[in-house]
Amino acid sequence: MKSTIRHFVFVYISVCLSLCANARNMRVQVQSNKMISTVSFTAVGCSYIVYSGKKKILTVKQNESVKIRSVEDFINLSSSRKKYGRFTKLKFAGKNNNASFLLKVTDTASEGISYYDHLQITAKEQSLRFINVIDLEKYVEGTVAAEGGNNAAAEFYKVQSIICRTYALGHLKRHADEGFNLCDQVHCQAYNGIWMNNRTLNDAVIATKNKIIVDSILEIIIAAYHSNCGGQTAAAEDVWSKPLPYLQSVQDPFCCNGLHAVWEQKISLTDWLDYLKKKNLLSAFTDVAIICDTTFCCFPVKRKALFSLANSALAMRTIRDDWKFKSAYFTINQVGDTLIFNGRGYGHGVGLCQEGVMQMAKLGYSFEDIINFYYRNVSIVDADLFSFLNLGFK
Ligand SMILES: [Zn+2]
Ligand SMILES: [Zn+2]
Repeated sequence: MKSTIRHFVFVYISVCLSLCANARNMRVQVQSNKMISTVSFTAVGCSYIVYSGKKKILTVKQNESVKIRSVEDFINLSSSRKKYGRFTKLKFAGKNNNASFLLKVTDTASEGISYYDHLQITAKEQSLRFINVIDLEKYVEGTVAAEGGNNAAAEFYKVQSIICRTYALGHLKRHADEGFNLCDQVHCQAYNGIWMNNRTLNDAVIATKNKIIVDSILEIIIAAYHSNCGGQTAAAEDVWSKPLPYLQSVQDPFCCNGLHAVWEQKISLTDWLDYLKKKNLLSAFTDVAIICDTTFCCFPVKRKALFSLANSALAMRTIRDDWKFKSAYFTINQVGDTLIFNGRGYGHGVGLCQEGVMQMAKLGYSFEDIINFYYRNVSIVDADLFSFLNLGFK
């Protein structure tokens, strides 16, 4: 009897999951860092139907192009044969799953950028705005290619796929006021459209389809990551003030030989002392020799959140921002009138360390091992199940 009930529950959940497992589309603003007034749209993977509201304007056949030009807050649409008029908003809907298109800024030498799926265009103040309406999994492939490079191991791409998908579903309202989910810049996640064809990457996205990371109370985590932690990741509260139980500081032996493991920057002693005075860490009467003894010490064994001097302190993060250091994990050595800042790592240091992940992947760790190493007390779950349980996306 018990097994019958179990079987019924299993079948019920499976049916419900298959009903709610429709493809999830993202609305991503593309070319968001550019002011573009004229582009050509070329249908590549199949033909596209162009709509203004619900009205069909034309079909752009495969390999054919149309020209789109902004005039104040309107869009002029034309082809080599015909002018179609002026519109406030146009939708380019691909006819099938192979839909892809090329957007090329006219009168420039650029080859253009290709995207999958569909496109919406509006105009404001002589500038065109593009929203790529794209299946979540295709978007994840694009972001993994843009954020993770082209020559990594399979487990690295699996980790990066889960991270990018977690970020996307955890930030659906990041640009809600502007009518889309995410932009294509590092403000959200870098996304450069269709990527170089990379079988390992594509397989990794498929193998982790729908997988996202949640914390111990089943909330989607802030899947923070950076280039190289320098041997120790930073706790969330040391960088962003707010503690998060899964973003703790972790000793990382895997990234020490990474490309961005160490850095060096020189600053004159005078400039540094002026800076400390400006930040109220130093009075005009402080003996410089004492300052040197107390602050320019050997490399801290552990990351520090604060740079302390007498009774004052300054956040290491602030120093990093002010001097544009690669990380907030450094020591200072004095050589004559010059201070040599020897640093470790690259980036804010919170969460997952990409160069550490690359090494763990090469050493044979699984994507589950890697995610559980950098994020503490988390679970990897299916986004459809998460959605079905009505936990909802932010
Ligand atoms: Zn953004
Ligand atoms: Zn690291």
